[in-house]
Amino acid sequence: MDFNLSEEQQMFRDLFRDFAEKEVAPVAEHTDHTEAPPAAVLQKAAAQGFLGAPFPEALGGAAMDQLTYCLLLEALAQQCASTAVTVAVHTSLAGLTLLEAGTAAQKEAYLPRLAGGELGAFALTEPDAGSDTSVLQTRAVLANGGWHFDGVKSWVSNGGTAGLYLVFAATEPGKGPAGLSAFIVEKSAPYLVVGHREPTLGLRGLDVRTLYLEGGPLPEGELLGPLNGGWALAQRAQDRFKLALAAVSLGVAENALALGVRFAVERKQFGTAIAQKGAIQTYLADCATEIESVRHLVHHAAWLADQGQPYARAAAMAKYLGARVAKDTANKMLQVHGGYGFSDEYAISRVYRDSRALKIVGGTDEVQRFLVAQAVLQEAGVAIQP
Ligand SMILES: Cc1cc2nc3c(=O)[nH]c(=O)nc-3n(C[C@H](O)[C@H](O)[C@H](O)COP(=O)(O)OP(=O)(O)OC[C@H]3O[C@@H](n4cnc5c(N)ncnc54)[C@H](O)[C@@H]3O)c2cc1C
Repeated sequence: MDFNLSEEQQMFRDLFRDFAEKEVAPVAEHTDHTEAPPAAVLQKAAAQGFLGAPFPEALGGAAMDQLTYCLLLEALAQQCASTAVTVAVHTSLAGLTLLEAGTAAQKEAYLPRLAGGELGAFALTEPDAGSDTSVLQTRAVLANGGWHFDGVKSWVSNGGTAGLYLVFAATEPGKGPAGLSAFIVEKSAPYLVVGHREPTLGLRGLDVRTLYLEGGPLPEGELLGPLNGGWALAQRAQDRFKLALAAVSLGVAENALALGVRFAVERKQFGTAIAQKGAIQTYLADCATEIESVRHLVHHAAWLADQGQPYARAAAMAKYLGARVAKDTANKMLQVHGGYGFSDEYAISRVYRDSRALKIVGGTDEVQRFLVAQAVLQEAGVAIQP
């Protein structure tokens, strides 16, 4: 068993960290305060090949394996969680779903654009379909050679900044998951209206919007994957996204710990640095240990994915534990900061707010727990429902 990253992975990890420290870190607070994604940084990331990291080279990508791509997200999240989630949605939900299900013509038309810096979005969730997206209200009807839509999509990350949207809609209402399909919709589509950015507790640099779809036509050929095959596509996209978010959580937790350590070493009370206090040391030890456990889960899930082995359960575990550790680490390290941690002047307050989202986005903790329990009980011959 070899726990080492390959030489190439180490080289990429250093490159990603360098980019994140030089380009992402300086604008992280600004991104949070202005509630807008860092457009210039994302263009620089595209120029480095980071927005098409796991896409094939022939389609404009950098052909990185999933583990290397996870190292990218981890490095971005060590500086700015919003930027990392922006890239994760763009890559794991939009780009890789196009790569998996697109026709040759669709892949050639869209993937080089995404790799080149045009953002992708993934519109699955609806106001009444969150954890359970098997019952979508958005309808797509084929008439006169084109698809016509009617519905509302909520919580669409990159919603205002994307050029391409993967939209999920019911093509056979009443059939539940067996009647859902996926479509490729351009931002310029006249029947697509993008709402205002949702005000959020954290991840304020993530551009989250509501989309309103009314009318058409979308050319028939912009169906993505088989008719009524959207549910399976969405499930596999969500598995990829869980792994990506676990890597983001790892970076967020590492950032929180680094901020806490720096503060604990500098802050003096009762005549010594608070790093000398047992209570603080316990927090640091707990967080460092939990972060390593998340790293192993992330790397193992990514390794399974790279081997072409089933990794959905490993990704759900990594996502669930990663989000918990990110939030707990941010919480403890905010406590280490005392009153300063409650001030917007200190980065830990942003990291704390950002970390809270990780227990919801990409599927809630409760749903990840259910999926793990389902797999465990399946081995015992017991079937459970969400
Ligand atoms: C920052 C952010 C970005 C997002 N980006 C996107 C995006 O780009 N595209 C997209 O399509 N969606 C996106 N989402 C939506 C996200 O996927 C949903 O918020 C999430 O799946 C939960 O759905 P919900 O919010 O409707 O909560 P609900 O499903 O209404 O859940 C409410 C509560 O009930 C619990 N619950 C629900 N069902 C069960 C169950 N069976 N057992 C136990 N507990 C249960 C949940 O865990 C939760 O605690 C985003 C969300 C956030 C917060």
